Amino acid sequence: MLEFDLIQQHFTKTTNHTNLGVGDDAALISVSAGMELAISADMLVAGNHFFADADAFKLGWKSLAVNVSDMAAMGANPKWSTLAIALPTNDSAWLSQFSNGFFACAKAFNIDLIGGDTTRGPLTISVQIMGEVPRGLAIKRNGAKVGDDIWVSGTLGDAALALAHMQDKVTLPEDEFISCANSLHTPQPRVALGLALRDIANSAIDISDGLLADLGHILDASKVGAELQLQTLPKSQAMKNNFPNKLTQQMILAGGDDYELCFTAPVEMQAKIIRLSESLGLQLSHIGRITQSSGLIVIGLDNEVLKIKETGFDHFNQTA
Ligand code: ADP
Ligand code: MG
Repeated sequence: MLEFDLIQQHFTKTTNHTNLGVGDDAALISVSAGMELAISADMLVAGNHFFADADAFKLGWKSLAVNVSDMAAMGANPKWSTLAIALPTNDSAWLSQFSNGFFACAKAFNIDLIGGDTTRGPLTISVQIMGEVPRGLAIKRNGAKVGDDIWVSGTLGDAALALAHMQDKVTLPEDEFISCANSLHTPQPRVALGLALRDIANSAIDISDGLLADLGHILDASKVGAELQLQTLPKSQAMKNNFPNKLTQQMILAGGDDYELCFTAPVEMQAKIIRLSESLGLQLSHIGRITQSSGLIVIGLDNEVLKIKETGFDHFNQTA
């Protein structure tokens, strides 16, 4: 199949808010009055970010969803995407599943696919996303204030728990594995939350590399510290059934691929945030506080201070 036919068959769909989409040398869009364009890109490489034999539908979903998550973390409304893809072979069945997954996510969040590039090469998926946010209202990493509450959406560490099961490091009952695997393969970006947080949060980030690493980015950018309570970190039933031990504690604090939002907000916002949690039907947990002193302190289950050496997943190390 010619590249043109491939694009026509798998990546050309009618658009909802685009002046000119796939098919010309460039796409054309209009940004609404008073809005800023928020732009972000994320690349997924086979063998590095996913297994080469991963389910194509879920891979399609995830490659857009991780980008949508960045829009959510900025308080931006995602509207347009581009897809640059390198394919080792022209496998029509695989492409159709991949594009079904991609467009399922696009439909769920009303995002147009407006262009891209297609080439032969080791399987690599590079998605760019663009969204709108009222000028000056984007939620940035550098806005955390001393005394802010720290909040997180959903539950933590489930994607890492699913991965650990796949790697035979833990054994989960079937139903628990399925629910954790959903977090890993078909993450649900928190767009409605991100939009609502424009008037509430001082700073926000999405959790792609783990809570400690990503909260660490907020602390660095805002030049503040934080104190977290391990006990208050939100756990799924599967996680609770395996908690606490050193591995699950590590997953909650440093496991990647959750795509929940971590945000900070003034204490006066607590009632508003609790109401928001109810209206969205989304768990929002108060997990700690922004402090003056630099660094990140985690208080353990026995009120002891956990010694966190590094916040990255690979380097995570603690002696309790
Ligand atoms: P050019 O030679 O100008 O780069 P291409 O043949 O690469 O054009 O692409 C033709 C059209 O198809 C362009 O509008 C481009 O944005 C779009 N396109 C190419 N690959 C993809 C893809 N994987 N997904 C969506 N649109 C694509
Ligand atoms: Mg091209």
